[in-house]
Amino acid sequence: MVSSLYGIDQEGKSICVFLEVEAGGLAGISLELIAKGREICDQLGWQLVGLLLGNKVSELAEIGFAYGLDEIWMGDDPLLDHFTIEAYTFATFQVLMEHKPSVFLLGATPNGRDLAGRLAVRLRTGLNADCTDLRMNLQDERLVCEVSGFGGGVLALIEMAEHRPQMATVRPGVFSLGEPDLNRNGRLVPIEMNLQSDMIQTHLIERSVGKDVDLTSVPVLVAGGRGVDGDFKMLEELAQLLGGEIGATRPPVDEGHIQRERQIGQTGVVSSPEIAICCGISGAFHFVVGIEKADIVIAINTDPEAPIFDYADYCIVADVHQFVPALIEALSLEREVSIG
Ligand SMILES: Cc1cc2nc3c(=O)[nH]c(=O)nc-3n(C[C@H](O)[C@H](O)[C@H](O)COP(=O)(O)OP(=O)(O)OC[C@H]3O[C@@H](n4cnc5c(N)ncnc54)[C@H](O)[C@@H]3O)c2cc1C
Repeated sequence: MVSSLYGIDQEGKSICVFLEVEAGGLAGISLELIAKGREICDQLGWQLVGLLLGNKVSELAEIGFAYGLDEIWMGDDPLLDHFTIEAYTFATFQVLMEHKPSVFLLGATPNGRDLAGRLAVRLRTGLNADCTDLRMNLQDERLVCEVSGFGGGVLALIEMAEHRPQMATVRPGVFSLGEPDLNRNGRLVPIEMNLQSDMIQTHLIERSVGKDVDLTSVPVLVAGGRGVDGDFKMLEELAQLLGGEIGATRPPVDEGHIQRERQIGQTGVVSSPEIAICCGISGAFHFVVGIEKADIVIAINTDPEAPIFDYADYCIVADVHQFVPALIEALSLEREVSIG
């Protein structure tokens, strides 16, 4: 087996979290990874470190410390102003090789996934992608990554024996956010970057950010499946009345009835709403992992044997095309009465 560029005998006793910068702040996924990293570091007495790359980003450090980081390795350089895979791979590789953390965690976001794959090859280490849980084997201080496979039929627990860093990506919404402590301080370690502009082949021409909502933390999610027959207008009306947002299973997304950003599930968003209303959805594992964290699940399906009912708190055997309009009417009436 090919050895990684640094191994267990050279590793620093630390977990490093890649801090993704989004709209001038730290992305929610980075804060979620800090919360999980803090939990593990407290068990081991290890250091929790953040890797912060960007241009004029030092003021973000205090957010990272408030959420639980002990230290931040910061690469502040105009060439890191926007994410380009060449510059970010180079800079991250440089920092990891200087500090050699035992564990390196990234969000399974488009940029995080891109970066993680390249780094794993460059460092000749392994990468556990889209983990559904992380914990530490306290005896041999190995990270245990939980990864599901074969449509949820297999739950694999993966440890890396010798290769370092132990790399993993986790999707937004899998871990909970910790509570910030604004009095918490940490150590900011600026790192001089050896970047040159000719290393970057990607040129940013225009940056446009979608207006889509963050479905990971909406209060009410109204999700539609194939059984809705593309009638997402009806679901949108219901969602609006309940102060929520609409989502979908993969088939309506593939058929173009709703944007891909609203797909819930293993290859979509993991949502943690207070209430998830599942309309015309069978309950395939690939979908269910996206709503498992909902406080209450309500399912509406014509088939009393539909697997979604195994996960639901309230099971309604009905046709969505009859039940949802009736529900909308009842809610609208109630609203009129309370306003009047
Ligand atoms: C690698 C991989 C990744 C995947 N990732 C995802 C993912 O992220 N998210 C995802 O959703 N899927 C994903 N899938 C697909 C997944 O396996 C299922 O095929 C999909 O979730 C099924 O969607 P559905 O429940 O809408 O459709 P179906 O399974 O066809 O179910 C439709 C349901 O609607 C009910 N129904 C029909 N008419 C009505 C009516 N009028 N009123 C009420 N109920 C009605 C039926 O009884 C049925 O239960 C993935 C698959 C693979 C292989």
